[in-house]
Formats: sequence, structure tokens, C-alpha cells
Amino acid sequence: MFTEIITKILQYDTIVIARHIGVDPDALSSQLALRDSIRLTFPDKKVFAIGSGSIKFISFGKLDKVENVSDALLIVTDTPDKKRVDSVDFSQFSYSIKIDHHPFVEKFCDLEYIDDEASSACEIIMKLILSTQLKCNQDIAGLLFMGLASDSNRFLFNSCTAETFSLVSSFIRDYALDIGNLYQKLYLRPINEVRLEGYIALNMVVTDNGLGYVKISDEVIREFGADSASAGNMINNFNFIQGVLVWATITEDVKNELIRVSIRSRGPAINQVAEAYNGGGHKYASGARLKSFEEAMFLMNDLDKVLFEYKNTHEEVV
Ligand code: AMP
Repeated sequence: MFTEIITKILQYDTIVIARHIGVDPDALSSQLALRDSIRLTFPDKKVFAIGSGSIKFISFGKLDKVENVSDALLIVTDTPDKKRVDSVDFSQFSYSIKIDHHPFVEKFCDLEYIDDEASSACEIIMKLILSTQLKCNQDIAGLLFMGLASDSNRFLFNSCTAETFSLVSSFIRDYALDIGNLYQKLYLRPINEVRLEGYIALNMVVTDNGLGYVKISDEVIREFGADSASAGNMINNFNFIQGVLVWATITEDVKNELIRVSIRSRGPAINQVAEAYNGGGHKYASGARLKSFEEAMFLMNDLDKVLFEYKNTHEEVV
């Protein structure tokens, strides 16, 4: 399918690359790396990366503003469903391609490349670059490394295979990546966020079935001088707690008038529970946007039931 993708890229002079709302390092890096690789390979093409950015990821690169396009190709990375594509009017495009690693939700592009076993959208872009004439340089390789490292939680997840490590190894070697510098770009954070992480550790409720969850109210977020997105993202720092198989942050987001739930698992699949609450995601990393803490507690209750089942059907759960 990489041949079909490059054929379409060759065919269009104007290419717009989008990704999901609620930007994260894999979504952003996959679209910026693909944009920059196409620009590097085909300097005459007009290639844009669009969507709302985040001050947190300002060092990754600049996004573009696009008004009207015609006879253009749309490529959407890291997004399984149409409603979560950031800032795209599909009617403006002649052809569309999806490149994603989420479990399939719906077909919304003409050509869809989905590998739900890939660690990240960036891993797929690495393979696309290696399998086609697309060029790469140190900046592009650095973006791809950051997206992959972030979505695999620094290579902690089972989605990291021998192939993943081999790809990463070749990009580090071929583009002389300074991974210390890249990790710093990804993970440097202010002390108040670390203190908020302490609050989460102290206040996490753990059920008998192995669910850990914490409510983070706007009051708490303000007390620690943090923001709601950073608070929710701390979910990734609570892996491998004995007796906690599924864990969740329930974060109040006053600005957007919603409650953001992030869920991770090292036991049962959780994406179907998230989907039942109009959310979704990966088997072991999902999220949902809810209206109230009460609704979030119903979701916690459903996760607890899944864990009860899981514990009764699996031996040696730790
Ligand atoms: P998060 O916990 O926000 O980092 O999200 C974890 C995964 O779940 C990511 O792959 C997201 O794309 C997905 N996800 C988060 N929120 C939603 C949502 N409301 N609907 C569908 N997928 C979501």
C-alpha cells in the first residue's frame, strides 16, 4: 500500500496533512514529519500541516494556515474517526488518505492504511519513508523518534516489537540522533507539575478489583498552577503499580466545559468501555470526554466490572 500512497503523493501538487483534535506528540510529529519529508523530496509541491497546536509542543515545528485549496490531496494521520479530525473540510479535497494505528472505527478516506499493531503513527511514517523515495533528514528523524517514544510510553508497551526497535535503531544511526536532547524536548516540565503528580499518587483510589482512579478538580489544577491537559497526561506516569491493572485520571476542564477521562491498562482491553461513553482509543490506552464527574463514576464502575471478569478468568494477576 505504500506504493499507492506515494503514487497519490506524486499525483498532487497541493497536499494538506491533518490529524486528530487534542494534539499529542505522535499526531503532531507524524503530520509534521510527513509534511517536511514531502517538501524535502518534492520542493515544488505545496504541502501544509494543519490543526490547532499547543504551546507545549511549540519546539516540534510550526503548523500552517490554509484557507481554500483545489485539486488537493488530504492525508490524515493518527485518527480513526472523522469526527476527531482537526479542522478539515473534506469537501475541498479531490482524494484522501488515512494513515493510522488505532483499531478501526470507520472508513472516511478513499485510501486507508491501518496497522493497529504499530506502536505509533510515526512508526508507520518511518516505514513509508524507508519503502519509498521520500527523503529524510535529522529534524524529520527527530520528530519521528519523539512521536514513537511518546506513544509507546518510552518503549514500555507491548506494541514495541523487534521491528520497532530495529526501525528506531536505524533512524538513530543514520541521522545521528541526540536522544538525550529529544527526550528533554518531550519530557522537561515545571516543578509544579511534578508536585501535582504527587497529589495524584496520594489521592488515587484503588478498588479491590484493581482499578486506580483520581479526580482532579479545577480547584486542584489551579492550586498547583497547572493546566487541565498536563494534569490528564500524567496518566502515563502511573504504570506498573502492584495491584493496579487499570488506572484513570478524571480531569475537570472548565474552559471546554467537560471532564476529560484518560484510561490506561496493563490487563483487560478498555477501548470498548471508552467507546460506550462516546470515547475510544487503543486497546490499552483510551480516553473519553464527559459532561460530569457523576458520568465519570459510571465509567469507573464499568471498568471495575471488566476488571472483576478479568481477574476471575486470568491467573497470576499482579
Ligand atoms: P489520552 O488519554 O487523551 O491520551 O488518549 C488516549 C487514546 O485515546 C488516544 O489514542 C486518543 O486518540 C484516544 N481518545 C482520547 N479521547 C478520546 C475520545 N473522546 N474519543 C475517541 N478517542 C479518544
